Amino acid sequence: MPEQGGGASTGIDVTRPSVARMYDYYLGGKDNFEIDREAVRRVEQAMPEIRQLARENRAFLRRAVRHMARQGIRQFIDIGSGLPTVGNTHEIAQQIVPDARVVYVDNDPVVLQHGRAILATDDKTTVAAADMRRPEEVLGHPETVKLIDFNEPVGVLMIAMVHFITLDEREAVMGRLRDVLSSGSLFAATHCTRDGHSADAVAQIEAVYAATPTPIFFREHAEAALFFDGFDLIEPGLVTLDVWHPDPDDPAPEGTKWLLGGVGRKP
Ligand code: SAH
Repeated sequence: MPEQGGGASTGIDVTRPSVARMYDYYLGGKDNFEIDREAVRRVEQAMPEIRQLARENRAFLRRAVRHMARQGIRQFIDIGSGLPTVGNTHEIAQQIVPDARVVYVDNDPVVLQHGRAILATDDKTTVAAADMRRPEEVLGHPETVKLIDFNEPVGVLMIAMVHFITLDEREAVMGRLRDVLSSGSLFAATHCTRDGHSADAVAQIEAVYAATPTPIFFREHAEAALFFDGFDLIEPGLVTLDVWHPDPDDPAPEGTKWLLGGVGRKP
């Protein structure tokens, strides 16, 4: 991306790293600025396997979406969709359910710009600008209302997202999303964990994200599991991604053990 972002006119903040652009850089994308790459270098000092983690996370997303589609889910809300990449949610879902509908939700102007160009290509996929911390914005967005029928099961994805929500705001956000979902809806999330890792490394990474608009919180398993309250976790539960339904047809990179993931079913 050119370094002249034209920030003021586009709403793109080039004075602070953006998690969307950092994640794009982890995955080898081009939609990032030097300020993002500098932040990534500092993350990398504490977590040399960050690029592997990002690929491992995307592989989990693909497995979770396929699981949902095979369970008969035909409509998805992908909250914090990130910049378009290889294997976007609708492409994965539509391999199994050709008429699957997907609402991509994000609040980063670069993501929204590219998303509208690349993801919202037909009447089955759309992009909604909303803040996940304000679930009414997500649920009441005209694009969500247009595409999602809440009387039918929905697949909700918050992949690499819930670690950006504080435990204080958790129930207000998750409770509202959960209550609107009909029985049989599925919720998938991944969450950075501090379990088994050096406290110094965790502190360094949290400090890098504290300088972005999106602080991150590495948590223990029991805290991460709180985000699944009110859902029944399917087997094998909330686990490091390497052991969640590995798929020999879509192998993931070697597990980093930095992320916990799971899928829960609304009873
Ligand atoms: N879910 C994707 C991308 C994760 S990167 C994946 O796992 O591959 C995190 C994304 O969340 C970024 O695109 C960022 O812009 C978005 N994001 C961060 N905070 C958000 C918020 N409060 N509301 C909506 N999107 C948010």
